[in-house]
Amino acid sequence: MLNSQIPNGPLSDKWKSHKFNLNLVNPANKRKYTVIVVGTGLAGASAAASMAELGYNVLAFSYHESPRRAHSIAAQGGINAAKNYQNDGDSIYRLFYDTIKGGDYRAREANVYRLAEISNNIIDQCVAQGVPFAREYGGHLSNRSFGGAQVSRTFYARGQTGQQLLLGAYSALIRQMNNNKVKFFPRHEMLDLITIDGEAKGIVTRNLINGKIESIPAHAVVLATGGYGNVFYLSTNAMASNVTAAWRAHKKGAFFANPCFTQIHPTCIPVSSDHQSKLTLMSESLRNDGRVWVPKKKNDERNPNSIPDDERDYYLERLYPSFGNLVPRDVASRRAKEMCDQGFGVGQTKLAVYLDFKDVINRNGKDWVKEKYGNLFDMYKQITGENPYEQPMSIYPAVHYTMGGLWVDYNLMSTIPGLHILGEANFSDHGANRLGASALMQGLADGYFILPYTIGNYLSKASHDIDIEHNNFKQSKNECEDKVKQLLSIKGKRTVDDIHKELGKIMWNNVGMSRSKENLKKSIDLFPELKNEFWNNVNIPGSSNELNPELEKAGRLADFIELGELMAKDALNRNESCGGHFREEYQTDENEAKRNDEDFKYVSAWEYKKENHALHKEELNFENVKLTTRSYK
Ligand SMILES: Cc1cc2nc3c(=O)[nH]c(=O)nc-3n(C[C@H](O)[C@H](O)[C@H](O)COP(=O)(O)OP(=O)(O)OC[C@H]3O[C@@H](n4cnc5c(N)ncnc54)[C@H](O)[C@@H]3O)c2cc1C
Repeated sequence: MLNSQIPNGPLSDKWKSHKFNLNLVNPANKRKYTVIVVGTGLAGASAAASMAELGYNVLAFSYHESPRRAHSIAAQGGINAAKNYQNDGDSIYRLFYDTIKGGDYRAREANVYRLAEISNNIIDQCVAQGVPFAREYGGHLSNRSFGGAQVSRTFYARGQTGQQLLLGAYSALIRQMNNNKVKFFPRHEMLDLITIDGEAKGIVTRNLINGKIESIPAHAVVLATGGYGNVFYLSTNAMASNVTAAWRAHKKGAFFANPCFTQIHPTCIPVSSDHQSKLTLMSESLRNDGRVWVPKKKNDERNPNSIPDDERDYYLERLYPSFGNLVPRDVASRRAKEMCDQGFGVGQTKLAVYLDFKDVINRNGKDWVKEKYGNLFDMYKQITGENPYEQPMSIYPAVHYTMGGLWVDYNLMSTIPGLHILGEANFSDHGANRLGASALMQGLADGYFILPYTIGNYLSKASHDIDIEHNNFKQSKNECEDKVKQLLSIKGKRTVDDIHKELGKIMWNNVGMSRSKENLKKSIDLFPELKNEFWNNVNIPGSSNELNPELEKAGRLADFIELGELMAKDALNRNESCGGHFREEYQTDENEAKRNDEDFKYVSAWEYKKENHALHKEELNFENVKLTTRSYK
């Protein structure tokens, strides 16, 4: 059933020949097609602007009041590209290789190679839009290093790269809004996908201001609705990020791929109390110059500045001399947890390690550090009250990114014809672990450079007519209205956040950084109870025809609970450790992830069935890289 549509031919020619072989839509016909884009973060805004530029009519939806509010705005550290401006040995092939290896050989070769190839176009596109990337004195764009690479290939705009890239994409989008080629619907949440004869032909939306629910028809639908890390309640994601659009499409037939592949980021501000609703990332770029350590003595209560160098364990440099502090995120996170589990953790909760800038400040001075990382240091100080110029930051791993998502073929089309998925919402190119600075690259590759080609291939065969009287438009709308009524009628005793917190704890304790057969099984038994509790005891104040954030959150939580259960099942099914998926039973003597290529070299793609999910497997073929044990030593 799963046809990934990977073109034949040598790796480096696949995308080129594929583009030539795709059907085209002539300019006069493009005007006859309407495409819905849900989500206007980096992936959605770039796709909507590019399709409008081509001549399609685009209807863009976001639950935010402006595209500039998308979670993409929070991206800090940078975006990768294989420009080799540093002359340090980078190439398209090296970026491809690092990304495949970084993902622990659980991504498609052809997709990843295409991503590396397109990376350079993205930088040119963004520079042309005026994105103010950091530059060297002579004018060249500047680069820094991110985890899992031994070259400097990350382009950045201080610690605000996502913001600047989004302003670029937003400018392109707003230009098309002014040309009436994009109609933007702010504060509209997609609640359902409408299919006719198995093809995506529209969506149901709820106007979040007045509660009006409507069916919107189109010739094709694109979801660029971001990741689902908030299933853990606490994560570095924007508070509103959720899985609803993807999950509702999943229930209409789109397979969900690798749902258990979650990225835990090693450098976040540690949890301080149970009342917290958000975690804050300290960008990976800080590991270019910051050194991670714990005291060599267990339960050492001394002020970190008074602990001499020979009493510190710079454990990443000790364990991984080649990559040192720049090992990939999964490795750094696991080692931080291990240090804390063994009693070397610091701070009040003992669930923290140090990220220290003492050496770079002594070497290059405070001003140099301020210029590079100033806004991140300020943010840390505002949140913790501690000055990172004077004492090391305390950091601990936190949920950050989801590699899983809706399954797509090489054309970014899901298992529902006409439904395309972009950005973090698809399962895409990162395998079991995403390397830093590659989400922005993938989202913009999808939106600016891939979808504009591939969607034409689908539309060239689509009829110009849509049967807007079709019963499915009415039925999906009615079902969404009924669901809202049902939620409001529960009138139980617990707040949405309270139940979400409970879900988060189940997820973090059992489906988090470290997983075991026993814990996964235990958690799978807990989901039906939690579902029951939600549908009988949640309390949603207010009504449906007004701005009602609790109602919005409740609908999203209902989906998160179902997704959480699938994530646990997927993690239980995968009897191996790979990337961010660490099963305690499968580790080497040195506590590294132990893959099982013979039995698990596949993408797990789950089909929704009412009572249970069915597992489909897309076998991964590696013709260009040799499967080896991932080593950063
Ligand atoms: C703190 C932080 C820092 C990061 N830094 C980096 C970095 O330096 N480099 C890097 O490569 N990656 C980074 N990432 C990851 C990266 O930011 C994200 O993966 C990426 O921005 C996701 O973009 P997107 O367009 O797919 O989704 P988003 O930016 O999340 O956009 C989702 C859009 O969908 C809309 N939406 C969602 N559901 C619905 C619905 N049901 N109805 C209507 N609209 C909907 C939202 O309104 C929004 O417009 C970082 C992530 C975090 C959390």
